[in-house]
Amino acid sequence: MAEVERLKNRKAPIDMDSEEFRRLGHRLVDQVAELLDTLRNCPVTPGESPAIVRQALRADRSLADDGMDAGMLMEGTTNLLKVHSLFNGHPRFWGYITSSAAPVGILGEMLAAAVNANVGAWTLSPMASEIEAQTVRWISEFIGYRKDCGGLLVSGGNMANFICFLAARTSQAEWEVRQTGLNGKQAKQLRVYATRETHTWIMKAADLFGLGTDSIQWIETDKKQRMVPESLRQRIETDRARGEQPMLVVGTAGSVSTGTVDLLDELASVCHESEVWFHVDGAYGGFAAHAPGAPEELRGLSKADSVAVDPHKWLYAPLEAGCALVRDADALRKTFAYHPPYYHFGEETTNYVDLGMQNSRGFRALKVWLALQQVGRAAYLDMIGDDIALSKELARSLLQHPELELITQELSTATFRYIPLDLLAARGKQDVEKYLNELNTEILKRIEKSGEAFLSNAVVDNKFVLRACIVNFRTTLEDVQALPAIVLRLGREADRELRPQKLHQ
Ligand SMILES: *Cc1c(COP(=O)(O)O)cnc(C)c1O
Repeated sequence: MAEVERLKNRKAPIDMDSEEFRRLGHRLVDQVAELLDTLRNCPVTPGESPAIVRQALRADRSLADDGMDAGMLMEGTTNLLKVHSLFNGHPRFWGYITSSAAPVGILGEMLAAAVNANVGAWTLSPMASEIEAQTVRWISEFIGYRKDCGGLLVSGGNMANFICFLAARTSQAEWEVRQTGLNGKQAKQLRVYATRETHTWIMKAADLFGLGTDSIQWIETDKKQRMVPESLRQRIETDRARGEQPMLVVGTAGSVSTGTVDLLDELASVCHESEVWFHVDGAYGGFAAHAPGAPEELRGLSKADSVAVDPHKWLYAPLEAGCALVRDADALRKTFAYHPPYYHFGEETTNYVDLGMQNSRGFRALKVWLALQQVGRAAYLDMIGDDIALSKELARSLLQHPELELITQELSTATFRYIPLDLLAARGKQDVEKYLNELNTEILKRIEKSGEAFLSNAVVDNKFVLRACIVNFRTTLEDVQALPAIVLRLGREADRELRPQKLHQ
């Protein structure tokens, strides 16, 4: 009886009355606003050891049987993350390709979670599904791709590239690859074409989707690390003559290490003539295709059979948001759809479960859709253009110091290294180069530790170089002009300590 009474007046411990929700929500919004306000004065990262971070979390405690007050929990958690996080929203965060999160996107995440639409099926997410469709079309138009393409939002660049890879596989295989796989009677060796500058997703894809990494033909690159179209053409011809099935060519629109853009127009021509699927990985550079100061070659992405872009990079969406686009709007359905008896979803609408790998799906589009409208196309392109202009300014200020060697500047990425003055003349000698690699590795660590800025690295022509990639709407001219002095100070300091142990001249 008591049990029935309890269930009748059920009060689940996970529920929250609106009074408390309001109180905690307002408090959280205030704290987030303050965090954004004070970001500039915090270190980019506290640079703590894993042991310290685990200690702060009390990582090895067990989950308690008893719950706790939600207010206290939120307070403690906010503090934990504030003190022990790296902030990629900091104006001097220039590592990898990771952007600051748009504030309107932060709000969008909360709204999306509140509606909690399951954007796998239209019935479960009528407005959210339509917002996703509109977002996909806007993204496609933004980069100069087709208005009538197919596409969907995914978690990031890797997943967007995977989706396109799989669409290419179904489209290019001349047998029922979804049914008989890669070992079927009529199966041929499928080939994909990429360069060593291609992001590692290509290896994961070749591996995960059954081709194996040996199926990748690594095409040679020119001095600017771009795929050589003629070498591609020959490789495809040779493979086809051997009875293999060329499947996919990957062009990169902004490489991860230096921001290099492949000769997309030329690659598109080769693919068109050889009837191979042309995919462009625009995870980094795609959104810059029509931005001021961006390389002309980017616009060649309009000729691709599929394009991957990453709203959580240059659209400044909070993680996670990637987007896959395919020229043939039916290609995704042909690749992913199944219709079991327990799904009765209408055909006249888009059910995203049919277009990708996920079943239940969150409402990723909302934060992107909000930011696109808050800013508008023209101002968005200008923001991207400003990141590019700031990177060029950084390159200019690096060039003013003989101890700083500028290696590359492309898109919004500059690579460079520190060379002690007295070693400048000895550059290129084997032992000196080895030392410079060690020295710059150490400098990278010290910059991170200092919290004054955050860089990552690249390896260009066997040189370990520092790499600043600006996908950050908070960065100003003053920020980039402050970097040379930081590198010089930490570079000289590291050289003083390292040289006696490492370089015997
Ligand atoms: C970032 C990036 C990826 C991977 O994207 P994620 O969003 O990290 O999954 C793939 N290719 C290129 C060119 C990238 O810049």
